[in-house]
Amino acid sequence: MVDADATRRPRVVFLGPPNSGKGTQAALLAETLAIPAISTGEMLRAAVAAGTELGRRVEGVMASGALVDDGLMADVVRDRLSQPDAETGYILDGYPRTVPQAETLAEILSGESLAAVLLVDAPEDVLVARALSRGRADDQEDVARERLRVYREKTAPLEAYFDDRGLLRRIDGSQPIENVAGQIRSTLGVAG
Ligand code: AMP
Repeated sequence: MVDADATRRPRVVFLGPPNSGKGTQAALLAETLAIPAISTGEMLRAAVAAGTELGRRVEGVMASGALVDDGLMADVVRDRLSQPDAETGYILDGYPRTVPQAETLAEILSGESLAAVLLVDAPEDVLVARALSRGRADDQEDVARERLRVYREKTAPLEAYFDDRGLLRRIDGSQPIENVAGQIRSTLGVAG
């Protein structure tokens, strides 16, 4: 069950370790709900590719598997969520990633509630195998493991943070894509 007001203008957060498939699922759900999927990782990669000031600032940090600092991310997300297309709701993929970022999001929401926080998770060996099969430059095995370690240290505490607020919903990300999408739709009570 999700809050009725929150579903009229749905704001959904996807949480989960790298390669859990949350990006794919965020995009699918965005299409179903006809709202934007906002991936901070994609925004940052685009900034790096375009060689912007932001891109130059985050490039090294991203390549190492570490997180970009919370203050810089707050600016990026505040700006993105103030765009007109986010007015009817949005899906956040990859933000928040730390407890301070969750507090920034609460400020941005200023009293409005999230519909849900979907935790897409899978066993570690599945995550690492997926990272290696993708073969992205930042997905070499040591970087993939570092990204996972950073998730466990900095992002996993958000599971309890959102669970305490009654928002966390657990999704089994080791299933095939369409099954995971089905779990998500039924959790949110949306038609497929
Ligand atoms: P992603 O595609 O979500 O895995 O993000 C790729 C990389 O971008 C991460 O490993 C971080 O270096 C950076 N990044 C993306 N989102 C955030 C965030 N919310 N906070 C800090 N760093 C981020």
